[in-house]
Amino acid sequence: MRRADALGRIPDVARALVLSRRLLTHDRWTDAELRAHQRRALTDLVRHAKRYSAFYRELYEHVDSGGEVELEQLPAIDKATMMSSFDRVVTDPRLRLSELEAHLDGLAHDERYLGEYRVMATGGSTGRKGVFVVDQTEWRHYLAAFFRLNEYMGVRPRFPRRLKLAAIAAPRPQHMTNRMSASVDVGLHRVLRLDASAPAETLVAPLNRHRPDFLYGYPSILGLLAVEQLEGRLRIAPAIIASSGETYTEETASAIREAWDVPWFEIYGTTENGILGSHCPAREGLHLMEDTTIVEIVDEHDRPVPPGCCGHKLLVTNLVNRVQPLIRYAISDMVSATGEPCPCGRPFRVLADIQGRNDDILHLPAAAGGEIPVHPLAVRSPLAAVPGLKQYRITQTVGGLQVRAALRTGAARGPIVSAIEHGLRAKLAGLGVEPLEIAVDLVDHIDGGRDTAGKFKLVVAQPDRLEPSVGQEHP
Ligand SMILES: [Zn+2]
Repeated sequence: MRRADALGRIPDVARALVLSRRLLTHDRWTDAELRAHQRRALTDLVRHAKRYSAFYRELYEHVDSGGEVELEQLPAIDKATMMSSFDRVVTDPRLRLSELEAHLDGLAHDERYLGEYRVMATGGSTGRKGVFVVDQTEWRHYLAAFFRLNEYMGVRPRFPRRLKLAAIAAPRPQHMTNRMSASVDVGLHRVLRLDASAPAETLVAPLNRHRPDFLYGYPSILGLLAVEQLEGRLRIAPAIIASSGETYTEETASAIREAWDVPWFEIYGTTENGILGSHCPAREGLHLMEDTTIVEIVDEHDRPVPPGCCGHKLLVTNLVNRVQPLIRYAISDMVSATGEPCPCGRPFRVLADIQGRNDDILHLPAAAGGEIPVHPLAVRSPLAAVPGLKQYRITQTVGGLQVRAALRTGAARGPIVSAIEHGLRAKLAGLGVEPLEIAVDLVDHIDGGRDTAGKFKLVVAQPDRLEPSVGQEHP
């Protein structure tokens, strides 16, 4: 960390810490107080968007924003619409997509565009990448949400023996995880930042030297590190673990728990909204941070799904970002809410499950003719039952599926290959998929396949069969 950089970040961090105290008071709101806050904030946001954004002025022509605005009056938008109208969506006419993309390409650290805007992009391994821009005040609100989370996790500055943090994050400042961990590094903690796209073995030595008290990473990385720990090469004893950015598989989760029997916090971060959700100290499910975002869990026709049912996507309304208003903006994550209050008493809804994040939906030939969309979870579940698997990737091929699998040291190869094959066949047959060719290749490492944010895909569709359904990338 360069000292001058750290000094430059102090005002942001100081302001964000003050804001985080205010956010923490929202934890004691009643449900009625939360909903009233959302209605007020939405009305303000819609008025602002109609006034300063040519795109929303046209889209909301029929919307009377004189009184309180109802969410249902507002048409939903998606990434393709937002990106194709980008220059008309933003409320500062100096912001042009082509120039922001050039700025992103040249980004080396935490530089701000026009001295005030932070520009970030989604991972972009598939489809068109999303570009998101926030001003300095909005960025401080994002950081405040991060500090609130630190409070939940018990990560507080400590002196004189400073807390040692290790963050294995996106390698480039285009991505939110990189930017946030850089932005909050003002010397309050001893921070080791490592590259999520580096092979897991190369992370072992620096982690052994740093001996972090707090370890953050994507689930796929933590899973590989857990294996390193269980096999004796990694020797760290973090008191707290946090993860975000990917769906974790059951086998990853059990390896992590076996390696480190400590509180593990899941964070639901998005480039579109900053921190959208997180565990609270009760860690019963992920709270949606509904004071900074309105989240609707909906079916494919934008109709709300009841608690307990998994939605097709989310419509998110970012109550913080005024520069690039995102109102009822579709994010293709498949989640369900519990419908039950959390024992902690926070008014924010709790998610039972995040089913789809980074993986592709496969379109496979049906036994009865035509095609069947197969959710990534369906092909991942049979592999969850196979012991000894360290890492895998399922890739759609012309005639079927290829599974590349890396095994734990000492795992029996033959039984694993047949368990993968039989498990997948039975699952697909149950879904009505025509019998396919399933090739299982055992490899030492699964190279590549991480996107620009360093995230790992477990299920990959054939490129020409891809639909942007579950393929949104997040920090
Ligand atoms: Zn809670």
